[in-house]
Amino acid sequence: MNTISNIHTLKQELKSKSGSIGFVPTMGALHEGHISLIKQAREENDIVVVSIFVNPTQFLAGEDLDKYPSKMLADEKICDLAGVDFLFTPDINTMYTQDEVLIKAPILRSYTLEGERRPGHFDGVLQVVCKLFNIVNPTNAYFGKKDAQQLSLIKQMVENLYMDINIIECEIIREVDGLAMSSRNVYLSQDERLQSLQISKSLKIATKKIMSGINSCDEIIGYMENTLEGIEIEYIAIVNRQFEKIESIDLKNTIILVAVRIGNTRLIDNIWV
Ligand code: AMP
Repeated sequence: MNTISNIHTLKQELKSKSGSIGFVPTMGALHEGHISLIKQAREENDIVVVSIFVNPTQFLAGEDLDKYPSKMLADEKICDLAGVDFLFTPDINTMYTQDEVLIKAPILRSYTLEGERRPGHFDGVLQVVCKLFNIVNPTNAYFGKKDAQQLSLIKQMVENLYMDINIIECEIIREVDGLAMSSRNVYLSQDERLQSLQISKSLKIATKKIMSGINSCDEIIGYMENTLEGIEIEYIAIVNRQFEKIESIDLKNTIILVAVRIGNTRLIDNIWV
């Protein structure tokens, strides 16, 4: 594996190779969730590129940018073992200059849910993903369903800007007890880690109720609120795959999303039904 932090060098290397390029953008502190994306990229492409860049423009003031977990040596090893060809590790001055052309996420779809709690977050996400796409020029780019709204907005950006890239949606990887893997799980104390199990439990109960025939979204949300009792809920939302709020469940076209705060840690999860 070749670890590269310079844009020009990476572009030159990629130009000298032929075949499909699979790309997995990350912010590092890699876990099994990231690894599943990398493995899929490895299976489906000739060349695999992973980027690790903690993108400051997607963090709001007061969020965890300064303490975002970092473990570059371990991440390098993980990528190497997973068969990554190029690990791209730019620094902030490589990625950004002053007074740049900006990308604006679509107003209606990016200022609800995550975007309502984190206004401007998706502008930063699309900005960096657009830059990374232009640097790597991937055939296929891999994103987790864990960040469902992000995934949907990236698909829209690719469509709206006529980018010739396939966006591959990857399943959510969970701990054996159900907690969705996240780099932020390391912030949880032992007690908080136990509490966090209620999140995936609430999604499981929602699915069970849907399978038993209940299709009123309000009713489903009620069951989830009961399961999450004692936890600070930021939102529970039921949307279709276009991220429009729906009143009743439409099987194979529904996403149930939840965001909570446990102590100082913000956790999100969802299930596609
Ligand atoms: P991040 O490093 O948090 O920016 O995540 C990089 C990519 O990994 C994004 O496409 C995420 O959606 C994806 N990802 C993060 N956690 C998981 C997970 N538990 N399962 C599947 N994909 C994930």
